[in-house]
Amino acid sequence: MSKKYIFVTGGVASSLGKGIISASLGLLLKSAGYKVTIQKFDPYLNIDPGTMNPYEHGECYVTEDGAETDLDLGHYERFLGISTSQDNNVTTGRIYNNVIKKEREGKFLGKTVQVIPHITDEIKNSFYKIGKNNDFEIIITEIGGCIGDIESLPFFEAVRQAKQDLKRDDFLSIHLTLIPYLSASGELKTKPTQHSVKKLLEAGIQPDILVCRTEHNLGKEIKDKLALFCNVSKNSVIESIDAKSIYDVPILMKNEKLHIRVIEYLNLVRKKSLKMQKWTKFLKNLHSSKYEISVGIVGKYTELHDAYKSISESLIHAGANLNSKVKIKWISSDEITTKNANNKLKKLDGIIVAPGFGNRGINGKIIAIKFSRLNKIPFFGICLGMQCASIEFSRNVLNLKDADSYEFNKNTKNPIIDLMENQKNIKNKGGTMRLGSYKCELSKNSIAIKAYKKSSIRERHRHRFEFNNNYLEDFKKNGMEITGVNQKLNLVEIIELKNHPWFLGTQYHPEYKSTVLNPHPLFISFVKKIKILKNGQ
Ligand code: GLN
Repeated sequence: MSKKYIFVTGGVASSLGKGIISASLGLLLKSAGYKVTIQKFDPYLNIDPGTMNPYEHGECYVTEDGAETDLDLGHYERFLGISTSQDNNVTTGRIYNNVIKKEREGKFLGKTVQVIPHITDEIKNSFYKIGKNNDFEIIITEIGGCIGDIESLPFFEAVRQAKQDLKRDDFLSIHLTLIPYLSASGELKTKPTQHSVKKLLEAGIQPDILVCRTEHNLGKEIKDKLALFCNVSKNSVIESIDAKSIYDVPILMKNEKLHIRVIEYLNLVRKKSLKMQKWTKFLKNLHSSKYEISVGIVGKYTELHDAYKSISESLIHAGANLNSKVKIKWISSDEITTKNANNKLKKLDGIIVAPGFGNRGINGKIIAIKFSRLNKIPFFGICLGMQCASIEFSRNVLNLKDADSYEFNKNTKNPIIDLMENQKNIKNKGGTMRLGSYKCELSKNSIAIKAYKKSSIRERHRHRFEFNNNYLEDFKKNGMEITGVNQKLNLVEIIELKNHPWFLGTQYHPEYKSTVLNPHPLFISFVKKIKILKNGQ
């Protein structure tokens, strides 16, 4: 079978959920027996989102191979249970960088290097690369941004050209739009979608399928109207109504027969009927959990929940698995003081101190950690959260009052968290942290080993600073165990406090590996402990 390429574009408004629609379609096709992957093309000039503030772009998602990528890749992995890589996320910056490098190497000698064909060729090569190097049968490509955006133009042009390159039934174009509802007149309006499709046609792309985001059912009349004006088959206007949770979208798409239309268009051989039992079981658990627990996420980007997407999703996965609805309380670390800590934190059943960079909000995080340590509230510190837990312990238990991270205080006599020797000469900020998957050995009788049920694990990293081994012995002697280490690099990866119900910090990011059908063992262990402490079972 030749490789099938599905391109998902968006129009009318941004943030309609192309990532969720792509992931939902990917899941349906995977459940129908095909080997599927999803890639995202982003129209900005950064080489990757690793150098962006989370307020600009939400969470930066890290893959096994250490690529810093768009948060939509997190949805792809969580929905499909697949591993993505550097090749699954390409930006305009990367495309231009590649072309300019080739120009300097003389690969285009004699030619004027131009957007068409050189940039568009590079984009197309990237479209096909992942399919060429792997045995995927279907490659879904999400084009970031909206039709009409100046910066997306070369991507749309490359999609148009891809249609020329590929056989008729190896190419499919899906356009995601919005059908706004005017409450004053009680009407759904199709005009913005008509205009969006016109814009797409100007770029030479006729959509085969329209997926329409809406707050109200479209009904046959609106669907037929959209089909007529947008020149798509009547059965290819797919309604995507607001869902209770993103995890309901695959089922809504299944009911709308999106996958069947795709299978027909691409002339795919039917493999098997959809196997979605596990997914539906997850949804049932998600929506009918008996218990409720509240977990505070303490961070400095809490106004934008997307900044901690993988953490909040991991809590949802673990909660559903344990018959527990996890209510997340977002707590800005800037606003926690010694005076208000009790009021702000006492009602929480568990506390997570989130990853992050820079000095802002550090004091609030340390106060929250002290509160959970002394009040025996389950505590989970992730990356910077683990580093802050180490600083808190040093200051308040080891009595090293100036203990700090080298990141925040270059002159401290007690750099509990320090810069690694091999990081000292690195000047560039992009892609230079400890990134991607590293091995970690777990200690006997630890919370970690009981959760993972094995002694050797691999987890993903994204940080520049590390636990300073000069303080190892003092930590151990005073009740903070080191329960996970990277033996090869001699680095601390997990700390656990003795004589506390559940107090654990990881230098790595467990949240990147939690999926709907395989919730992460540490999140399971954390939520389970909270549930038992609260409900006694
Ligand atoms: N800022 C810290 C470091 O670079 C932690 C990073 C993080 O939380 N991802 O080591």
